[in-house]
Amino acid sequence: MDSPGAATSDHRVWNIEPHWFGPGEGPYTVVAKLMLANGLTPKDMAQALGSTLVKGMAVPVHGRTLLDLSWARPSGHTAGDLVAGLAGRCLSRANPRWWRCLAGDASFRYCAECIEVGFHSSLCQVDGLSHCPVHRTSLLDRCRHCGSKTSRFALTAEETLGPLVCPQCGRALGAAWEPENHFRSWGQHSFDAYDALGRDLQKLEQLSITWPDQGAWLLDPADPHSDTKRRARTFDVLTSLISTDAAASPRGLAIRRYRARQSAQLWEVATIDAAAARRTAIYKSIRRHFRRRLKCGSRRVRALRDDFIWDYPHTVLLPANPSVSADLHGFLSWRTRFESDYLPGEIKSGRSSHLNLRYGLVGWPTKWRSTDAAWAEFCLMCLQQELVAARQFRLELGELDLRKPSDASSWMELARRLHHRFGPVSRQWPVGITCFAVSASTPSPGGDLQLILVSANSGTEGVADCVSVSHDS
Ligand SMILES: [Zn+2]
Ligand SMILES: [Zn+2]
Repeated sequence: MDSPGAATSDHRVWNIEPHWFGPGEGPYTVVAKLMLANGLTPKDMAQALGSTLVKGMAVPVHGRTLLDLSWARPSGHTAGDLVAGLAGRCLSRANPRWWRCLAGDASFRYCAECIEVGFHSSLCQVDGLSHCPVHRTSLLDRCRHCGSKTSRFALTAEETLGPLVCPQCGRALGAAWEPENHFRSWGQHSFDAYDALGRDLQKLEQLSITWPDQGAWLLDPADPHSDTKRRARTFDVLTSLISTDAAASPRGLAIRRYRARQSAQLWEVATIDAAAARRTAIYKSIRRHFRRRLKCGSRRVRALRDDFIWDYPHTVLLPANPSVSADLHGFLSWRTRFESDYLPGEIKSGRSSHLNLRYGLVGWPTKWRSTDAAWAEFCLMCLQQELVAARQFRLELGELDLRKPSDASSWMELARRLHHRFGPVSRQWPVGITCFAVSASTPSPGGDLQLILVSANSGTEGVADCVSVSHDS
């Protein structure tokens, strides 16, 4: 085979053939082809890009990530051209606002059929994309032959056997990466389906979206994959905004839209008092209906009070043993979020005192003003989330009983791992719930601001049917 061969001069980064890659190809395979064509190691390549190769940071993106090339410091004309060419292929170029929220570089994600012919799109790093839009096959983040994890989507320091070759089993990830097929099997592949997806995602850049707690949504310290899951769900939510079928919610997500107004985050006392009065009535209606369905009057709660543990500084209520039903646990956790500081008293005495909602929740969605109907849905979604979290806790609790000496340490371990999911301290509302505001990028004075309320994993099972709260207040 007539290889362009290993070049030694400063011209080596020019030793490329334009027909080896197409305009929609991402930087990973382009860098791989440049390295192979020029006989470069990752270290050489990093030097060519104007950066010394160091061990990257673990999170949130690698220090030499290929999602974005702002770390590259080109020196001289040649390197400048190279960096500009590669940067233009990065996801950060097409989606400067959203790439961090949508894509990760912890592993190289690829379509086996695309990589077979030497092609890879940056969009494969978008966690919400599970299948290649061209071949309809699942995207992989493991070696096709031995199953070991692919390397990072970055120019890493690890010395490997070669680009797109598994360091564990030594086999190429696709035929185009077998040494005998280098160069001749690389081509100008252009896949319309990737181009179309890229254009769709670029539409997001035209919207003005303010999403203050995007990074806190679905954050779970007990789950090492929570960042990946959040990015995937963020993709689902954002693509639903640009979908032509505006009524459809992606699977596992409830998405509601409401009118909203900007607010200066300041309320006059009389205004928030009036809101509190209306919203307390909504809250009570949900609470009453659910309490009836659950048959969890104060007598029942009092009877079980020895089976609850009150984690005081965290304002978290946990069941000490399986005698407490998950629904009761979830219901009471929801109440500890909304009601200011009297629930422990009720558990103690069995009596309800006057109801005061926490003003932090009365004023939801904090940054904007929206309707009471939006608030009612928010309140109900919080209850659903709390029930789901309580059911998960119950599942993991099994037959553990804190009062049995043999179970105590396992119970403590479980509580330590999951307590942040309950109660208002780590976050005012459950981690599965988020909201953001969206408008066209040039806001009109009349205001076309929409509040988007999102709940992940929302099962309406058992809740919606028992709650007949008025949604048109
Ligand atoms: Zn493919
Ligand atoms: Zn392998």
